[in-house]
Amino acid sequence: MSKALRILVPVKRVIDYAIKPRINKAGTGVEKTGVKFSMNPFDDIAVEEAVRIREAHKKLVENIHAVSIGPTKAQDILRTALAKGADTCTLIDAKETELEPLAVAKILKQVVAKQNANLVILGKQSIDDDCNNTGQMLAGLLNWPQATNAAKVEIDESSLVAKVTREIDGGEETISAPLPLVITTDLRLNQPRYATLPNLMKAKKKPMEKMTLADFSDVSTEPRLQVLKLEEPPTRSAGEKVASVDELIEKLKSVKAI
Ligand code: AMP
Repeated sequence: MSKALRILVPVKRVIDYAIKPRINKAGTGVEKTGVKFSMNPFDDIAVEEAVRIREAHKKLVENIHAVSIGPTKAQDILRTALAKGADTCTLIDAKETELEPLAVAKILKQVVAKQNANLVILGKQSIDDDCNNTGQMLAGLLNWPQATNAAKVEIDESSLVAKVTREIDGGEETISAPLPLVITTDLRLNQPRYATLPNLMKAKKKPMEKMTLADFSDVSTEPRLQVLKLEEPPTRSAGEKVASVDELIEKLKSVKAI
């Protein structure tokens, strides 16, 4: 393999993390009209990591390519990725089709081949469907090693081996794997930079390739799952202030909590 890194960063357009999602009237999905959308936060971390890898290994990184499969408006998050440091991007216009992770992973596999990418950095999960599937499925389809839930990534320039510290229950695990590799990002990997206005202006001049699902006609987009029902979590009853520890103990006894 030539000593060059071609990084692919898949980014998904999701309802902004700061917005409390509301269930639609039919109870089958989340209300999307009039709601702010942004880049999935874990994907923002993935873009940042790709840019930091370039900053650490200036000559090694040949290209950072962002890709989004989603509605036409997903171009906004691609522009943000370009403003933060991606060089090129592809919008795969899926109109309003909601794709499941397996279909996304199959499409991404083809994008990996087209971009000749040897490192894919995805978010560990999309905050809308909370699937936490796509990175693992992509690694399986590519038959590449995977380092999920990354909290630290180091790449050795001479061997092109990545050392990845992963967040696991109650601690950390450090693994190493040769490229090509799939990495998924965890929250503590980095603190993403903001896209500045001048960089957002410059991003308008960077290339955005446009494709549609028809360009991936060999990939089935038929859903395998059907959402039967969505429910809001039960509303919590109001709290009560007490004046002293004694009163607290009395209250707890009265509701048989102690
Ligand atoms: P998920 O398996 O749905 O939780 O998503 C995990 C990661 O896969 C996300 O953080 C993204 O990096 C990537 N991904 C999922 N869906 C898409 C999509 N429609 N377009 C681009 N990337 C996606």
